[in-house]
Order: sequence, then structure tokens, then C-alpha cells
Amino acid sequence: MSTEPTPAPCAAEAIEHQSVEVDIACAGFGPATAGFLTTLCRAWTENPADPSMESRVMPGMPLQILCYERADDIASGVSGVVTQARGIRASFPSLEDAQIPMAAPITSERVLYLLDPIGASRRSAVLRFGDFLLGLGGKLWLKDHAFELPWTPSFLHKKGGLVLSIGQFNQWVGSQLMADGFAQIWPATPVSGPLIENGTVTGLRLADQGVDKNGCPADGFLAGMDVRARLTVVGDGPVGQVSQALDAAFGLPKGHHRGDWALGMKFVIELPEDTELTPGTVWHTFGFPEPEIFGFLYVHPGRLASVGIFVPSWMGDPARTVYRYLQHYIQHPALWKHLKDGTLRSWGAKSLEESGKQGEPFLVGDGYARIGESSGSTNMLTGSGVDEAWTTGVQLGESVIDLLRAGLPFTRENLATTYEDRRRGSWVERGAREAENARNGFHYGFIPGLMGMALAGLTKGKLYLPTHPRPAHRQIQTATAIAAVDHEKAAKLALKENRPLHDALLSVRGWPEIPFDGRLLMSHQDALLLGGKVQAMPGFADHVAFINRGLCQVCQEKTCIAMCSGQAITLGENNQPAFEREKCIHCGGCLWNCPHTPPGRQSNVDFQAGSGGLHSAEN
Ligand SMILES: Cc1cc2nc3c(=O)[nH]c(=O)nc-3n(C[C@H](O)[C@H](O)[C@H](O)COP(=O)(O)OP(=O)(O)OC[C@H]3O[C@@H](n4cnc5c(N)ncnc54)[C@H](O)[C@@H]3O)c2cc1C
Ligand code: SF4
Ligand code: SF4
Repeated sequence: MSTEPTPAPCAAEAIEHQSVEVDIACAGFGPATAGFLTTLCRAWTENPADPSMESRVMPGMPLQILCYERADDIASGVSGVVTQARGIRASFPSLEDAQIPMAAPITSERVLYLLDPIGASRRSAVLRFGDFLLGLGGKLWLKDHAFELPWTPSFLHKKGGLVLSIGQFNQWVGSQLMADGFAQIWPATPVSGPLIENGTVTGLRLADQGVDKNGCPADGFLAGMDVRARLTVVGDGPVGQVSQALDAAFGLPKGHHRGDWALGMKFVIELPEDTELTPGTVWHTFGFPEPEIFGFLYVHPGRLASVGIFVPSWMGDPARTVYRYLQHYIQHPALWKHLKDGTLRSWGAKSLEESGKQGEPFLVGDGYARIGESSGSTNMLTGSGVDEAWTTGVQLGESVIDLLRAGLPFTRENLATTYEDRRRGSWVERGAREAENARNGFHYGFIPGLMGMALAGLTKGKLYLPTHPRPAHRQIQTATAIAAVDHEKAAKLALKENRPLHDALLSVRGWPEIPFDGRLLMSHQDALLLGGKVQAMPGFADHVAFINRGLCQVCQEKTCIAMCSGQAITLGENNQPAFEREKCIHCGGCLWNCPHTPPGRQSNVDFQAGSGGLHSAEN
């Protein structure tokens, strides 16, 4: 079988791209870019006559700053969110929490170890023995098959922080920015990649429009605009294409890797009228539905709760149906007693780049700077990314103001002595260093993982378990990892009921079928039509493509189908995966969940810039 990429259906032609000149171009609008733009915007509104804020490309006008967001709406983000909000509160010193819709100050925090009341999860003998010992105490320390840690470890504490909705937060910040008129934010505008000339980033290229699914020019073809900028700010999150292209062009610093990922999926649930859960309630959970799956429950005002799980790459097991796992999760007795009479309002999913500091790229270069999750800012010990992303954006904003006032260009050296130095001297860097090796132990197993995390957390990162994580596509196991008898049964069930192998595998392992009630427990297909509607603008190419079709043909697991958050990848003709752009919610999970990769690649899936996705401002 050839390991070469399957040839592109239309030959690349020399296409002329129109260009526009701006002062600053930004890729992606998440908390990181929001922090950056807020900082610059505030400096300008405080002193609009400041000559350093004058545009070079449009003299007499303020700086021309354009920010391009792939999603159709700036409120389409997906996250938890519980945050200490140090950086956010520093930017808004007179903030009253109620100003941000769905925000609540944290009132209580609990950490729960969830036992498995079903007996279907993949627990090691040691863990089962531990569960047995816990069970001996019965009601003394177990309630609803859950053991509450007597205290919340300091590294997990978010005391004084906030429960937020990322969609509402982005919307709140974005509306203020647009009202000030300083920066323009363009939703539904995917950036296809950076413009790089002689090692300098000179701007961004937007995605072509009026193309067929393969990217070939069709009716109304419009070549993506080249947006030339003095400074390009890259805040495109965990699976952004600009970041991917920069990593490919400049590599990562020696010893750094982007090997660890998780897919986070959440429900927004309207709680029953007589709920006992009050706004600001925060639960962190582990142990169920699989030991490696961490979960959360955060309560917003208005009887809304965000409830979700993370399925990490280091779980390895080929059963990766996150949607079904989430349905089992909410039915755990400790959660179900609060949720069972609730109503599903929306749901969402997104990848989380879990390498943190280990995956930090070059933060600056000539003409560009990187902020937020794609710059390795997420703290994997505290499980916190929003405030860190915001703060790196603020730090870049302050540095840009310094350079503008000093009349200095955006070179690698100047960005390093301002932005990079600021970041290195801040709490974000201290936290990142403490967290750098905190998750290493999970590569040996669940119990070493917890021990490693506690060790790193309690010693502020001084002690940790050493490891050399494998890339995600080597962590995700192939069908050979499934016990032969289970595999055979699952394969038969999958064939009989036309279900993905992984879903059938869960049933074979003893997970009960989901008792759909059409209100809270609904089919994946129905959830796609609910609250978070999925849309895709016409005229863009498919942003998910399979690099080597020969590998897909012989691939037994079709993990990309099993884990696809939007059921956008299905089994098509000739045993090949087929992609439906209209269903994709851009979670990015398919990028790192494929265990069969052509040589020299990290995945057999090419995840490109695309518009559309999930519409839910509540996520
Ligand atoms: C389920 C879940 C729960 C979480 N819970 C928490 C929590 O409780 N607390 C916490 O602090 N953090 C949490 N996180 C992590 C947190 O959401 C992220 O760390 C944070 O959103 C990172 O912000 P960012 O601005 O760097 O990136 P993002 O929020 O990912 O924003 C990047 C933006 O860039 C856009 N983009 C990407 N590519 C392109 C392109 N080519 N062209 C144009 N636009 C593009 C994306 O659409 C996106 O809107 C959670 C994450 C998930 C998935
Ligand atoms: S993309 Fe990967 S997981 Fe999906 S069918 Fe192809 S080889 Fe298999
Ligand atoms: S096809 Fe879309 S929804 Fe499915 S895994 Fe990939 S990015 Fe997520």
C-alpha cells in the first residue's frame, strides 16, 4: 500500500490573491485575543490623540486592527469555565460579576472520586481493591457511590474566582470592543494560514471562497485575501491552522512536543425548579465513567449548569465515544439525583491542548507573536486556560503599546524583550513551570498519574515523575488492544445494528444502553439539532480531509468516526470515512485521534481552516 498522500483532485494553480494592508492582523477571537484587543483599545480610548496609536497604513486614522474568527459568531466558544479570574479581574478592576451574563462568584468547591456503580469501566485490579476498601466504610464516607475528598488541594482551588460561560464572556468583551470601534472583528472568516517571507511573518491569508468541497474553484470563486500587517497576532487556540503552519515552518524549541490532548464535551442543563444546587457551585470529579476521564459540574445563575468530561489521548483505549461516555457520566448517582429532572439546553465539544508548557512554541518571531492555548499557556495542573490565555493577550497588548510608543518595529528581538520577558516574569509562567510535568504519570497509568499530579502540585512542580510522552497517534490504541473475544462480539453487534465499532464495544463491555427520554438523554443526532445548532456557510472547501485513503481503507477501528463529536464523519462507500461539512462542530478531535498515520505525519487527518460550526452562546 502506498504511504503517499492521496493526490489532490484539482491541480494547484497560480491564483492571484488581492491584498489589503493593516497595522495589526489577528487570527482567532478567543479569550487570548480578547485580552490583547481590550488592552490596546483601552490605551487608545484613554488617549485617542496619542500619536503612537496612529495608523501607518492609513495616516490620520487610529491603528487599523483586524481580527478574523472562523466561527460564524464570536460567542461560539466551548469551555467549562471555572476560573480564578486573576487576569480578567485585573483588566476590569470595577467588574461586578453580574455584568457578565451567566457569571457567578464561586461559592463552594468539591472534589469527588466517583466509584463505578455499573461495573463496566476499565478499572485495574489495584483500583478495584481500593474501591472495595472504600466500600467497607459504607455510608461513613461514601454517598451516592462517591467519595468526597476532605479538602480541595490548593492547586485545584479557584477561591475568589468565577463560574463563566465562554460564549457569553466572549460576546460581552467582543461587544464592548466593537462598540468602541477601535478593532474590527470579522466572524465567519477563516484564516487559511500565515504569510511568511524570508522567515518573517508578513500577515495572514484568508480562506478561498466559491470553491467546491475539494477546494477547486467553482461558481463565484473568490481567492482568499492577503492581509498584510506589521504585526500578526496568533491566538487561534488548540487546533488552529495558523499555529499549525507556524510550527511546521519554524519547528518547536528543542525538547518541546505537542503530544497530549483531550476532547472536552459538555452539556448545558437547565436544572429542575426545586434544585438544591446554587449558583457558584463547583464540582471536580474523577474515576467515572473511566478512571482517566475527569469531569466537572459548574452552576450558573438562572438554574443552568455546565456538566462535562474530558477524554484524554493518554487514556489510549480505542473506545472513544465521548458523547456516550458523557451520557453515562451524568447518570452517575451523585450527579443524576440533581440532574434527572433537568432539560438539555445545548452541548458542545472542543479539543484541549494538554501539553501546556511542554508544547510551548517559539512565542515570538519577526512580525508575529503567539498568545493563548496555542502558545502553551494552559495550566494542566490547575485545569485552567481562560485566565492564562487572557493574560498572555494582555501582556502582548502592553508590549505592543511599549513598542509603538518607542517607535520600534515588531522584530523578534523587540517582541522578545517586551512580550516574552513580561510573560516569563509573570504568574502565568510560574504556574506553567509548576504544571509542566504534572501529568507525566498518566503515561504509566491512572494511579501513577494521580500520584504524579499530587507530587507536582504539592511541591510546586519541584518533584514529578519523569516520562517521554509518545505523540497522540501512538497513545491511541488500535483494534489489536481490544480483547479478541470483545472485539469479535463488538464487530458482530456493530454490523448487526449498523453502529460504530467503539459504541458496540461499550455495550459488549457491560455499559447499559442509554434510556433516551427526549429531554435530557437524547440521541446524538437529536442533540445536534438542539440549542447549539450546527451550520456551515456554503462556498468553502471541506476542512477535514483524509491524507492517505489507502490507510483508511484497511483501518479496522475508524476511530475518527467513533469519536467525531458532530457525527460529521461517517462510514461512506468502499469502507472509507466520509465527511459532511454541514455537521462538523470544529472540535478538532479527528486531528489527533487517528492511530494510523503516514510516515513523518502526526495524523492521517488534515484539519484545515473552515467556517461554520456550533451556534450556542451558552457554552
Ligand atoms: C470542555 C472544556 C472545558 C474547559 N474548562 C475550563 C475551565 O473550567 N477553566 C478554564 O480556565 N479553562 C477551561 N478550558 C480551557 C479553555 O477553554 C481554553 O484554555 C481557552 O479557551 C483558550 O483560549 P484561547 O483564546 O487561547 O483559544 P480559543 O478559546 O480556542 O479561541 C481561539 C479561537 O480561534 C478561532 N480559530 C481557530 N483557527 C482559526 C482560523 N484558521 N481562522 C480564524 N479563526 C480561527 C477558533 O474558532 C476560536 O474561536 C476548557 C476547555 C474545554 C474544551
Ligand atoms: S482517518 Fe485514521 S482512523 Fe479514520 S479511517 Fe482513516 S486511518 Fe482510520
Ligand atoms: S469532523 Fe468536525 S466534529 Fe468531527 S471530530 Fe472532526 S472537527 Fe470534530
